Amino acid sequence: MAWCDGCDVFVEAKGERGEQCPTCGTKLDIADAAFEDDTKPPWHFWLIFVALCGYLFWRVIEFFL
Ligand SMILES: [Zn+2]
Repeated sequence: MAWCDGCDVFVEAKGERGEQCPTCGTKLDIADAAFEDDTKPPWHFWLIFVALCGYLFWRVIEFFL
C-alpha cells in the first residue's frame, strides 16, 4: 500500500520508487510502506542493550563491595 497525495487515499502499489497513482498520475509516497518493515529494532541493538545493562549492574555490585 502507498499513499497518494492527489487523491488523499491509499492505493495498491508494488512499492517501487517513482511509482505513479493509477487514478491521477501523482507520484506515490511509499515512505510509509517502507517504514512498516523497519519498526523492529535490529539484533545488535539488543546486544548493546544487554551489554549496557550488564555493565551498569556490575558497577552497582562493585559500588557495594
Ligand atoms: Zn491519486
